[in-house]
Amino acid sequence: MSVADDLRCARDLLAHAERVVVFTGAGVSAESGVPTFRGPGGLWKSFRPEQLATPQAFARDPRLVWEWYGWRREIVAECRPNLAHVALGRWMLMREGVTLVTQNVDDLHERGAEDAARGLIREGRIGGGGEPAGGVRAAAARVAPIRLHGSLFHARCTRCGGERAHRDPIDAATAETLPRCACGGLLRPAVVWFGESLPEDALQAAFHAASEAAVCLVVGTTGAVHPAAGVVHETLGAGGAVIVVDPGETAYDDVAAVRLWGAAGELVPELLAAT
Ligand code: NAD
Ligand code: ZN
Repeated sequence: MSVADDLRCARDLLAHAERVVVFTGAGVSAESGVPTFRGPGGLWKSFRPEQLATPQAFARDPRLVWEWYGWRREIVAECRPNLAHVALGRWMLMREGVTLVTQNVDDLHERGAEDAARGLIREGRIGGGGEPAGGVRAAAARVAPIRLHGSLFHARCTRCGGERAHRDPIDAATAETLPRCACGGLLRPAVVWFGESLPEDALQAAFHAASEAAVCLVVGTTGAVHPAAGVVHETLGAGGAVIVVDPGETAYDDVAAVRLWGAAGELVPELLAAT
């Protein structure tokens, strides 16, 4: 089959699906310039992520770990959502029944949805000609992803467990300058580290949505990180179909009903434009 046939087939599956789960990984943000862990640019000061993204590393040297997260925040802050993020946001704002589940810790799905909402407001397709109640942010929040691995822009207290948005620049010069909670406890990045369990409510919500979906659209993930990778199997197990968009091999290639080989920024807008 040609790519055009594959696209047609995938569009058809999506058009007939009452519920859809979109499952994304580092690849959806690759064209925005966010390095994937396994690709070039994944290293920082010659450390591998496995040496920094662990509770042991944070206990041993919180300054080093915060310094790395500060660097990653700066990289992501300079990145722009790409055409895949915007197309997904637009599609979700225009149709019901789509749940977005991401393994990414960047905020590009949210910012992509904001760009999409701005466009739709300009076109008069949402908001009835004016700003919708709550503005662009509120419109985009309606299609916010379920985050399986947390967010670079949230922090959690190591003492009281309180979690909140945290975007301030990181000063890791001394232990005293590291970010602190109102209770005085040391804050840590609210991301899931190697060896830690995923947030139970997010995982359950993701698995539930996937088990009810007629289609799981997988974008930019090898499917190697568990238990997140199991989202796709929930859809399959319930008799749903899988569509994979990725330029490289993934764990889902043999079970995909449609396999679209290529970059998310090109294929996702094409796929979603006509559905
Ligand atoms: P991965 O690195 O295992 O796989 C990335 C996938 O993206 C590969 O299959 C690759 O072929 C594909 N890819 C590369 N360029 C692409 C493009 N232009 N369009 C579509 N796909 C493309 O990533 P993963 O499966 O997400 O697992 C890595 C883990 O690391 C995740 O748990 C994630 O939380 C974390 N991580 C997140 C970010 C981020 O937030 N942006 C970045 C790096 C790592
Ligand atoms: Zn606290």
